[in-house]
Amino acid sequence: MYKAKAYSAASATSPLASDIIPRRDATDRDVQIEILFCGICHSDLHSVRNEWSSIMPTVYPIVPGHEIVGRVTSVGTAVTKFKPGDLAGVGCLVDSDHTCPNCTDGLEQLCPNQTLTFNSPDRHGTAPVTYGGYSESIVVDERFVLHVPANLNLAGVAPLLCAGITTYSPLKRWGDLNGKKVGVVGLGGLGHMGVKFAKAFGAKVVVFTTSPGKKEDALRLGADEVIISTNPAEMLQHSGTFNFILDTISADHDINAYLGMLSRDGNLTLVGAPEKPIPISAFALLIGRRSLSGSVIGGIAETQEMLDFCGQHNITADVEVIPIQKVNEAYERLIKSDVKYRFSIDMASLKAE
Ligand code: NAP
Ligand code: ZN
Repeated sequence: MYKAKAYSAASATSPLASDIIPRRDATDRDVQIEILFCGICHSDLHSVRNEWSSIMPTVYPIVPGHEIVGRVTSVGTAVTKFKPGDLAGVGCLVDSDHTCPNCTDGLEQLCPNQTLTFNSPDRHGTAPVTYGGYSESIVVDERFVLHVPANLNLAGVAPLLCAGITTYSPLKRWGDLNGKKVGVVGLGGLGHMGVKFAKAFGAKVVVFTTSPGKKEDALRLGADEVIISTNPAEMLQHSGTFNFILDTISADHDINAYLGMLSRDGNLTLVGAPEKPIPISAFALLIGRRSLSGSVIGGIAETQEMLDFCGQHNITADVEVIPIQKVNEAYERLIKSDVKYRFSIDMASLKAE
């Protein structure tokens, strides 16, 4: 066991602050990574503030962060995929049972015995729960460590490990999007990656936003059209015309307004995870034989596929790089939907602590 610098929150109402946490020494299968950048996902904020208390209550102190990119510093004796000096990525998962039907199918994100990167019981017993990427280093089983394409900007790669795979996976799963009308609801970290991927897959992309100030950016990011969702007249014009809609909103909203946008057999996939249950109008689904589904991150093989795709197509997140000392300010801005379009923490700033 060794000690690592980190930022943690001591309670749901405490700010994140400098801390020292235990990390395990690399076992045979482990890769030790010096963290260079860590993205700030809205899930970090939900967890720090215990907003998902009924599903996964937060254990304090919490060290969030599951959009990790860094460089390998050492590897265990049985590690075959990585060597010191390699670039490495870690997303939301650090372990699973490897034997259940979901793991067998490469869907570790659906494994009932998975270990999340933070706030999951720590199987190695280093601490009561796992600690995430707001830290100078992390030790992870090589099976959950991803190869990072060398041609991409690392600050912009970090958010691919969650925002990237969470949008890539459901868009891919929907099938051939070429020429299809795809809506992306909410232009934040997930939403802006959804726009980039849907565009890369050949879709006609329409962004729904509550922020008129994001219109120009949405077009620049690849949207063909932008709808200000608070304007009923604009919404009405597109009623019943979408093949697929990806809903990334982090807070309470009227999902029925978006279900009504779907064409026959259209699907709305929820990836946003608001705190409270969402009321659904039966008729919004019955009329048009529409469906509503959900999706959570992606499996390890698909995450590698997504990173390779990003390397080939030169896709990264648009990031505001911040020092860790600005993390609490960044959280306040996230709540106000004021991020362009992901905060990426430069972990070198932790050396000053
Ligand atoms: P984010 O960067 O804060 O973006 C969320 C966007 O939702 C905002 O930028 C805003 O877009 C819109 N929004 C926020 N409040 C709203 C409201 N009250 N009404 C309507 N629109 C609102 O968050 P994120 O990191 O992309 O995460 C989005 C959600 O996905 C979170 O709930 C997060 O926990 C969840 N998530 C799920 C998975 C998964 O595997 N399913 C993975 C990662 C994250 P506009 O300004 O454009 O309106
Ligand atoms: Zn996330």
